[in-house]
Amino acid sequence: MQNYPVFDFRSDTVTRPDLGMRKAMYEAEVGDDVYGDDKTVINLENSTAELLGKEAGLFVSSGTQSNLIAILCHAGRGEEFITGSTYHSHYYEAGGAAVLGGVVPCGLPVGDDGQILTKDIIAAIKPDDPHFPITRLICLENTVCGRVQPSNYLASICNLAAEKGLFSHLDGARLLNASVATGQLASDIVRPFDSVSLCLSKGLGAPVGSVLVGKSEFIAKARRLRKMLGGGMRQVGILAAAGLYALEHNIDRLAEDHRHAREIAIALGDCEGITINRDTVETNMIYMHLHTSKKDRLASFLADKNIILSPSDKVFRIVVHKDITPAAVGVLIETIRTYMAS
Ligand SMILES: *Cc1c(COP(=O)(O)O)cnc(C)c1O
Repeated sequence: MQNYPVFDFRSDTVTRPDLGMRKAMYEAEVGDDVYGDDKTVINLENSTAELLGKEAGLFVSSGTQSNLIAILCHAGRGEEFITGSTYHSHYYEAGGAAVLGGVVPCGLPVGDDGQILTKDIIAAIKPDDPHFPITRLICLENTVCGRVQPSNYLASICNLAAEKGLFSHLDGARLLNASVATGQLASDIVRPFDSVSLCLSKGLGAPVGSVLVGKSEFIAKARRLRKMLGGGMRQVGILAAAGLYALEHNIDRLAEDHRHAREIAIALGDCEGITINRDTVETNMIYMHLHTSKKDRLASFLADKNIILSPSDKVFRIVVHKDITPAAVGVLIETIRTYMAS
């Protein structure tokens, strides 16, 4: 481990497993999971399914693999999924559904609140006509850029999907941030969805993995696709143990990340030359606009003080997570203030 403090605000994927988590990994009971022998994996899959109120779960290597498997389960070649053009499954997954499954993406405009409009979805659902791909699936996301998607919005889109005979999938990479921020049970938020993907390696602090959940038949099909994609892993309970530890210890503490994010938004929002819309800081992400005269040198100024931000030419994204202590929050605020005053 590093022997000087680095404050890494690039993403909540940068957390390192702490001693408790490493101990759980060390002690994990393992077996060959492709044979269904790994009790720790089975425990993680069942625990996640229970947490999200679905019948079954599948432990996969990443959120990208989880979304890809879900899309390939719900739709086939020449069929289409409707989603937001900036959502992860459309923009950040290397076009996997199209490349590997021949599933056609249809990306709709996303509002500042992270939502896509019902009228746009209705207009995008294709009639039965040989000119078009066959619409099969609507894929939503929660949170979107740290914005909580309201349950009634999610439910209304799922109802629309069901009415039109379409499947619904939620990319819930940060679903538990939404759950903790609103006090709603995760299982209530995702009830109307056919399938849900949850990341263990974001705010929950595990080193690897996501869990895909849904009905038992769906998960059986997903298991075959995971093997086909090269995602069948063997004594992988060693990683599942980290996920189980995260579900047990790291959900409620997300509230602390959200408090830190609000603290940063309030402190820096008052700073001359910085604009932050505090109303948009609902979970663990802050989007910060800098006056043009200041934006170019910020990242290198912070890097000199061991503070890392994602490089940006416009808006800076600050992400808070488990390894950001109250002291780190203070250091970030003070260093950016010093920079702005310089
Ligand atoms: C991180 C993320 C994923 C999955 O990313 P992996 O790096 O493949 O685990 C999926 N959706 C959203 C919204 C994400 O932020």
